[in-house]
Amino acid sequence: MKGLIFSVKRYSIHDGPGIRVTFFMKGCPLSCWWCHNPEGISPDQETVEQIEKVGEMEFRKTEEAGRFYSVNDILEILDKERIFISYSKGGITFSGGEPMLQMDFLSEALKVCKANGYHTAVDTSGYSSTDNFKTIIPFTDLFLFDIKHLNDNLHNEYTGVSNMLVLENLRLLLSSGRDIMIRIPVIPGINDDDDHLESLREFIMNNKNENLKKINLLPYHKIGSSKYKKFNIPYRMSDAQQPSRQRMNELKMFFSETGIKVKIGG
Ligand code: SF4
Repeated sequence: MKGLIFSVKRYSIHDGPGIRVTFFMKGCPLSCWWCHNPEGISPDQETVEQIEKVGEMEFRKTEEAGRFYSVNDILEILDKERIFISYSKGGITFSGGEPMLQMDFLSEALKVCKANGYHTAVDTSGYSSTDNFKTIIPFTDLFLFDIKHLNDNLHNEYTGVSNMLVLENLRLLLSSGRDIMIRIPVIPGINDDDDHLESLREFIMNNKNENLKKINLLPYHKIGSSKYKKFNIPYRMSDAQQPSRQRMNELKMFFSETGIKVKIGG
């Protein structure tokens, strides 16, 4: 069995505790307007053409988005970093895309990594069947769980799917005994109005328990925008401005009132 992965990030410090290796898996059932990883949306291996300019000259080259890895390949990569991972109390994180779209591979990889002593984390949109979540809970130490919008109509408009399953899965995970970090992308003009932020804070207050360890506020940024052209996907956020540092600090204070630790960034 192999998993299709479009990027492997070693020495990652934003995807869970300690130093981690993060595997970004191909395929996502959502199509968020602000997605930073458009190369992760298609579940297929893609060949893209890149044009590089040197002065007046143009050079075309092709590159593969996505490579197949076996669970053993993953373990080999981890074992090379074991000393850093273990010293920093880090581990492995599966991100994407939506890692649960490759459920069989994900579940096997989590099981094997855990059996080999690694702390395991899954960074998820929450949009997968509840049964899938129940399958991986025993092998997952930490869930990094996105909440993008509480209004179902707006969630549908900006991500392409309903939030009902997402919120149901969040409640399931909060009662699972596993650690949870809620990730809130802060997207100007989409989910950062006062009314929505108020309801989000209230939602967290009403649902929090000892398993909810942290809230990560992820400021919108334009870093991924240049990739859209390459993957032939329209970019719908051209007019959006990145939230200022001051605004992010205000939001940090605002969400700290939940009593949960808040961090800006992953
Ligand atoms: S859930 Fe994440 S990976 Fe999927 S489209 Fe949205 S931002 Fe991109």
